[in-house]
Order: sequence, then structure tokens, then C-alpha cells
Amino acid sequence: MTPAAVTRPVVTLVGAGPGDPELLTVKAVRAIRAATVLLVDDLVGEGVLRYARRSTRIVRVGKRGGCASTPQAFIEKLMAAEALKGERVVRLKGGDPFVFGRGGEEVEHLRKLGIEVTVVNGITSGLAAVTSLNVPLTHRDHAHGVIFVTGHAKEHGRSPDWATLAAAAAQGLTLVIYMGVAQAGHLQQGLLEGLGRSTPIAVVQHASLPHQRHAVGTLGDLAGLIEREGLGSPAIIVVGDVLQGLASLPLERGATRVA
Ligand code: SAH
Repeated sequence: MTPAAVTRPVVTLVGAGPGDPELLTVKAVRAIRAATVLLVDDLVGEGVLRYARRSTRIVRVGKRGGCASTPQAFIEKLMAAEALKGERVVRLKGGDPFVFGRGGEEVEHLRKLGIEVTVVNGITSGLAAVTSLNVPLTHRDHAHGVIFVTGHAKEHGRSPDWATLAAAAAQGLTLVIYMGVAQAGHLQQGLLEGLGRSTPIAVVQHASLPHQRHAVGTLGDLAGLIEREGLGSPAIIVVGDVLQGLASLPLERGATRVA
């Protein structure tokens, strides 16, 4: 073997999209097919794994399915060890690897060890959730921008300032909130400091999957709606005037309207 043919250790972080395998990119499918080891996150749709070869070793590193969540440090070590053994390692992450996916930490860790990293985008669940309602994220009349934000207080060590975000949304920005259902009461309270009770909201659970459920209502009723409908994680909360008119459209399967 000539030195040029020696393969250098490489890990590919691949966005698996929101769940529907048809929303994978062509690049993602190619990477999954080429993998010899697949490290699979929690929210990766089962259908996506269809593209893996039979001989590929699939390691589930998520907490759904009964196991405790695998510590991030262990996942990083495992990725590095397999890549250094010469395996073609693909780290499959739900949505996009760089949207609330800790992809940044993984890239840093691998690069420090001299392992090459490539990243393949995926459709982030926030995009898929809004699109599943046939609602645009921006609209020349209602919204000139979008804020993707996490409702999870610990994500950055502190809770988002909902009142400030509400003020931004009141200026015509759509809010797309990840990991927000467990904190719905708290974020509703904060958002009401800058937005009216009648501001349209939607909650979309399991976006893009056959068992998707969603509910449409108003900000003044956000936490109540989530509770009554039994909506839970994984879900996206959307807030903003782009949702106007949604309440007057015929409802699809899995949808609930609250007057
Ligand atoms: N990297 C992922 C986000 C990971 S954080 C992405 O780009 O989508 C996990 C959060 O993503 C969940 O708590 C939920 O808010 C959201 N999420 C992931 N998949 C989802 C889905 N199919 N439907 C609704 N929300 C989803």
C-alpha cells in the first residue's frame, strides 16, 4: 500500500433529520451506507437505519428505549477509538448536528485528537415542525425573521430571557422553541410580558413521523393546551403571527384546535 492510500481516521457527523427517512439528504444516505460503525442518537427515526448495511455495527447511545442516556464523554471516546481503529464512523444525530445537538463539542474533541471530522446537515426539527403545518417561517406581511431557541433551562447554564424574546417576536420574528414543553408554564409567563394572550401558537410533537400530533391555540392557553392534549417531548413550540389563519383551516389527522 502506498502511503497515500493509508486512510486517516475520520468521523462523519450526520444529521438524520426529524424522523421521516425521506427527509434525509442524499449525502446523509451515502454516509450511512458507507459506515462500518453507526453511533445512533435518541431522536433518530428507526426508518433512517434502513440505509445502513447489514454488516454495520449499530450502537445506540440514547436514553429512549430503556437505557440511561450515555454520557457525552463516553460517546466522544467511543467515536475516537473506533475511528483510530480504522472504522468508518458515522455519528447519526437527530435533526441537524449543529442545532442543539452538541455537535460542536464532538467536533472539538475529535479535532484535538487529530481526527478529521466532516459534518452533513440534516433538516432540523424546528423547520420540519412548522412546514408540517403548511406554515412559512417568514412572511412578508407577518415575520421578517426567525429565532431558534431552547426552552431547556440548563442548555446554556441559564434560562432564556422570555420577556426579551417576546419583545423581539412582537417586532415580527417567529419563535421556534425546542425542548420547551416541560417548561411551558414558565415560558408562557415570560412571553406574556411582551406578547398578547391571543398571539397564535402551535405545538408539534413527533414532527414528520406517522404518529405526529399537533395542536393550535393561543399563547394565553399554551401550558393548558399542552396538558389537556397530553403533548410531550419531543415537541416544538411555535409562536407568532405566521400561524394566523391556521385555526380556520380544516384540521388534519392528529391535530387539535382550541378555540
Ligand atoms: N439537533 C436536533 C435537536 C436536538 S434537541 C434538531 O436539529 O432537530 C432535542 C429537541 O429537538 C426535542 O426536545 C424537541 O424539542 C426537538 N425535536 C427533535 N425531533 C423532533 C420531532 N420529530 N418533532 C418535534 N420536535 C423534535
